[in-house]
Amino acid sequence: MKPEQIDTTEFRDHLSNVTEAGKRIWIYPRIVKGLLYKYRTVFSWFLMLLLFGLPWIEIDGHPYFMFNVIERKFIFFGVMFFPQDFHLVAIGLITFIVFIILFTVIFGRVWCGWACPQTIFMEMLFRKIENWIEGDYKAQQRLDASPWTQEKILKKTAKHTLFFVLSFIIANTFLAYLIGKQELWTIVSDDPSRHVGSLASMILFTSVFYFVFARFRELVCIVVCPYGRLQGVLLDKKSIVVAYDYVRGEPRGKQTKVVAEKPKGDCIDCKICVQVCPTGIDIRNGTQLECIGCTACIDACDEVMVKIDKPIGLIRYDSLDGIENKTKLKFNLRIKAYSAVLAALLGVLVYLLLSRNMMETTILRTPGLTYQENKNGTVSNLYSVEVMNKSTTAMPVNFALKDFPKGTIKLIGKPLFLNAGELTKGSFFIEIPKKDLPDNTFKLEVEVYSNGKLIDHVKTSFLGPME
Ligand code: SF4
Ligand code: SF4
Repeated sequence: MKPEQIDTTEFRDHLSNVTEAGKRIWIYPRIVKGLLYKYRTVFSWFLMLLLFGLPWIEIDGHPYFMFNVIERKFIFFGVMFFPQDFHLVAIGLITFIVFIILFTVIFGRVWCGWACPQTIFMEMLFRKIENWIEGDYKAQQRLDASPWTQEKILKKTAKHTLFFVLSFIIANTFLAYLIGKQELWTIVSDDPSRHVGSLASMILFTSVFYFVFARFRELVCIVVCPYGRLQGVLLDKKSIVVAYDYVRGEPRGKQTKVVAEKPKGDCIDCKICVQVCPTGIDIRNGTQLECIGCTACIDACDEVMVKIDKPIGLIRYDSLDGIENKTKLKFNLRIKAYSAVLAALLGVLVYLLLSRNMMETTILRTPGLTYQENKNGTVSNLYSVEVMNKSTTAMPVNFALKDFPKGTIKLIGKPLFLNAGELTKGSFFIEIPKKDLPDNTFKLEVEVYSNGKLIDHVKTSFLGPME
């Protein structure tokens, strides 16, 4: 049967997780088994290990990862970034968004099914706890429909207690990324009355996570997540998604030994693919916003196909084009254009990261002052200096004048010492013999040294008397 001969109106016109009155249907997904689920489990545990472990890793006393939006201090892979690096963050974000777009254009919602923390926590932690305590989907339905017996109270209490503990751990991990493990430990171990605000945010985060995973669940992906909503514009007929091969599967129905007048497709309409779906949809209705690409329906259907002695892959990773015309993914113009933009952005980002100076020095002539003529025949200007140390090591600094061998820099106060990740301020005079001045106003270059090594150089202006 050719695709154009298949009547698709029957199976593309309704949603499975909403009643006709628009009310939410609570979803009880059947426990899924299968090869892809095994791969997803291993990959999820690897990601969870990273996610829970990274905020506790420190290098030279500094976190390996930190996103302290309050103090505007960010650490990626042990490298500190500050508001002064905003251009890097902006380019990094644009590159990441283009990468996501490109990835989605080609591979659909692979991110959602395999790497999104919402899916991983829900399917690999909370759902497993639920299945462990309450049993499979049918047992859960029975339990919810049953009166409040001692068994039901016990099971629900145990489940929600574990949900809350897990939410607390996730919230603390989240906080550790935001404020760093040391600050988190101070909040936890110190007198609570001194950290009321932080403890309140800890409880707030815990409650939000608990609500999301205990009640809100798939609605995060369907209603809240902006990425899910972008699918409509990003996906096309050539994108690889979790897809039902309706050419092969329709017309669906129970297989009988008697050859019916109308030949049946490979789908036996057992609905197991719907029962395992965590968003409660029927993938046979076509690609939908609600599909998070979790592959549960692929595993479920493959198991059915094996049992009825048909080739696996009735539901599989494929494009609509692939299903209808048996075409393979091509590197089309849209993918080429996105790839070119991505390559250019990556190039710029790598260049900026490699050429990024770990010191950022600003030297400005003190406003409101002109110059001073000294008795020793020199002319001096007063400057204020700010040095941002973006590295994770503390260091002393001193300054030298380039191109004026007889000129000197006289620091006011103690020599500057830069603490890691901090901005240090100071002032100094630049003195140059009057006879060496090339003009009454000119640019000169100040070199910044640390332990004898040149680490930065800055241009500033110098003002002298009119001749
Ligand atoms: S699991 Fe496969 S055979 Fe069963 S209803 Fe779904 S697509 Fe059809
Ligand atoms: S349709 Fe399949 S891949 Fe999509 S969310 Fe449901 S089970 Fe997961």
